[in-house]
Amino acid sequence: MSTKNFDVVVIGGGPGGYIAAIRAAQLGFNAACIDEWKNEKGGPAPGGTCTNVGCIPSKALLQSSEHFEHANHHFADHGITADNVQIDVAKMIGRKATVVKQNNDGILYLFKKNKVSFFHGRGSFVAAKDGGYEIKVAGAAEETLVAKHVILATGSNARQLPGAEFDEELILSNDGALRIPATPKKLGVIGSGVIGLEMGSVWRRLGAEVTILEAMPAFLGAADESVAKEAAKVFKKQGLDIQLGVKIASVTKGKDSVTIAYADAKGAEQSLVVDKLIVSIGRVPNTIGLNPEAVGLKLDERGAIVVDDECKTNLPNVWAVGDVVRGPMLAHKAEEEGVAVAERIAGQHGHVNFGTIPWVIYTSPEIAWVGKTEQQLKSEGVEYKAGQFPFMANGRARALGDTTGFVKMLADAKTDEILGVHIIGPFASELISEAVVAMEFKASAEDIARICHAHPSLSEATKEAALAVDKRTLNF
Ligand code: FAD
Repeated sequence: MSTKNFDVVVIGGGPGGYIAAIRAAQLGFNAACIDEWKNEKGGPAPGGTCTNVGCIPSKALLQSSEHFEHANHHFADHGITADNVQIDVAKMIGRKATVVKQNNDGILYLFKKNKVSFFHGRGSFVAAKDGGYEIKVAGAAEETLVAKHVILATGSNARQLPGAEFDEELILSNDGALRIPATPKKLGVIGSGVIGLEMGSVWRRLGAEVTILEAMPAFLGAADESVAKEAAKVFKKQGLDIQLGVKIASVTKGKDSVTIAYADAKGAEQSLVVDKLIVSIGRVPNTIGLNPEAVGLKLDERGAIVVDDECKTNLPNVWAVGDVVRGPMLAHKAEEEGVAVAERIAGQHGHVNFGTIPWVIYTSPEIAWVGKTEQQLKSEGVEYKAGQFPFMANGRARALGDTTGFVKMLADAKTDEILGVHIIGPFASELISEAVVAMEFKASAEDIARICHAHPSLSEATKEAALAVDKRTLNF
């Protein structure tokens, strides 16, 4: 067994880890990344949850199912006849696998290009050694690495519902939900968060009857209330049955079905029988196999690695980023932390602004926001002005045939600085970037209102929302 020395060893090759390793290498460090994810042939599949069973495959299926829905329901408006539209689910899942593989291969190429040494296997702490750390890699071959700096990016796993353990056949995590072999007739989803809504939307568009059971009394509690209200209205119209304030009593597996007994919001006992059940009730930080005890790495009561604002753990020269630490479980947050940590190791001042991290839900319509919601500003006693513009009044949205939703901008009542932007509507995931840039540069609503936006474009709705802050919309 050989021992290899590195300046920086990253454990975990998801968006937090692989980006940290590349940035460290760019900064001149001898960097390595260890990742244990296996493709179906047992080979390496770097990219973590995001690439393999998260962001990327879910968007591939959302795209396929949206095409199907358009062909079935919207082509006719354009004068296009598409009779007897069929979906080949196996082919759709196959395409998704190809997209995932392209991303896996892309990361391996990036490692090569940036001279990052990649190790396929499980990385675990052995001991602190010579002012650094000894790390064992257990893979096809066993290796020992010694690192001056360690960046932990071991991600998260789907949270289990006690009594409804994942078997990925009938009771599915995000993993199983992304490879259901045929559209189920009835699909149950426990949890109406981002993952539940996205997965529910995919299979609803393909013809499943979808019921989403949510424990919280409010729908999309983290979003601006007006956006959440609009989303609930649209999703209901689309046929998603979203039941709030429910209490799950039991989940029982049959031969080909799952029965969920629950109390509804009024306390009445209900029973739901479905062909498949997706449980999406959040994710738990993952340190399985890392052997944190060997070096005294501190975890909190949720199992997350304890870090300070700079992602430093309790151990010298050991850092942690992404889903395994506090903060939003988002790929772009993990990436930004990865870059910031590599730069801090190099003595620079890497920084992540938590106030301008965008949130996106890739349903149809898409939902995206950045900054504070109206209810947050109210509870913080901040005086603000609000401007809203509907896509119904936007020429490009009308041409697209997708006029649902609006852009809402919140600005400080005195300084006019933008405090939050909330979008529900077509391409909200792309439109939100303008708001993120504006907030990062501390722009005022007036700045956006005075910037020339291309016509006809959806982004004009953002400009009009900024004009609406000053009560002077031009097109509504
Ligand atoms: P991960 O991506 O989880 O990567 C961790 C990696 O470390 C994994 O490859 C794991 O195998 C490896 N690992 C763990 N322990 C070890 C060890 N001891 N040795 C070696 N390797 C190890 N976020 C978004 O921003 N946008 C989205 O659209 C989005 N969609 C999502 C959809 C779904 C269905 C899911 C489940 C998540 C989605 N997310 C999305 C969240 C996103 O996937 C995560 O926030 C992101 O992957 C976190 O990155 P990470 O690098 O911290 O961890």
